[in-house]
Amino acid sequence: MKWAAAAAALTEFSQAFLPRLGAALDEAVKEFPLIWIQHSACSGCSVSVINTIHPSIKNVILDQILPGRQLWLRYHSTLMAASGGMSTAAALGTARDYKGKFILIVEGAIPTKDEGIYGTLGEEGGKHIRMLDWMKRLGPEAMAVLAVGTCAAYGGISAAEPNPSGCQGVGQVLRTHNIATPVVNIPGCPCHPDWFIGTVARILLYGLPQPKELDEHGRLKAYFGKSVHNRCVLRDCMDDGQFATQFGEVGCMLEIGCKGPFTYADCPIRQWNSGVSWCINANAPCMGCTEPGFPDAHSPLYQRR
Ligand code: SF4
Ligand code: SF4
Repeated sequence: MKWAAAAAALTEFSQAFLPRLGAALDEAVKEFPLIWIQHSACSGCSVSVINTIHPSIKNVILDQILPGRQLWLRYHSTLMAASGGMSTAAALGTARDYKGKFILIVEGAIPTKDEGIYGTLGEEGGKHIRMLDWMKRLGPEAMAVLAVGTCAAYGGISAAEPNPSGCQGVGQVLRTHNIATPVVNIPGCPCHPDWFIGTVARILLYGLPQPKELDEHGRLKAYFGKSVHNRCVLRDCMDDGQFATQFGEVGCMLEIGCKGPFTYADCPIRQWNSGVSWCINANAPCMGCTEPGFPDAHSPLYQRR
């Protein structure tokens, strides 16, 4: 009888307490599923983001990125251990189980010519899945799409002339297929890790950016609100009429192709490689890598526009 009473008490305790404990834990740490799809790209944006120093990539994907908030990377074709059907199932299963609750991160442009036959990723039932079909299937299910890097945001180098596979940026593809999921562009060739992590943290803390926080090209003004030229270390040279005419000369690099006046990014104050340097500090003109139309609209890169 004593054992029976004890078992009944334990059952009662479990039924009453464990759901509350589970709910408390759920409330304590909220997980945000991410699916990171790599389309037509060089993987440079993944490499750039993985190289984040503060916070480290371990902190980003294994720890709470903010108190009580943890990212849950469900699919990334470079980082994940799974392969084949298991990896494809992880992405599709996440989209199904977390409909409207996962963030779709897209790296690279999407080949669209001839119904997307020129770019595939993974297999399903023994058939290659076209990158265009990934977008048509996952795009409508996501809470939001983050287009990481200029290829994903606007086509970038993947869409440069002659663009034989008809590469397009994410926003253009979603619009073509009447998919209304919000898109935030985080361009750059590559995307700066701070721009990506800062955007994700902003969404976790406050939700999706309001339209007034984005510029006309779908970028957060917090990172892309001022031109490179606006805060360039060589502004004094320009104001003094001191222009470099060849590489290595001291002076504003406008005459040797700097696109800083037409390019919006905070590189002069953020810098790269954890604040070590940036293009103009390294004696290279800004190529305008965060802008729609890069690289074609800025070519030849080393001639004045
Ligand atoms: S180097 Fe480029 S960004 Fe800097 S002042 Fe000259 S034109 Fe502007
Ligand atoms: S300075 Fe210009 S080319 Fe260099 S990373 Fe920034 S936006 Fe891109």
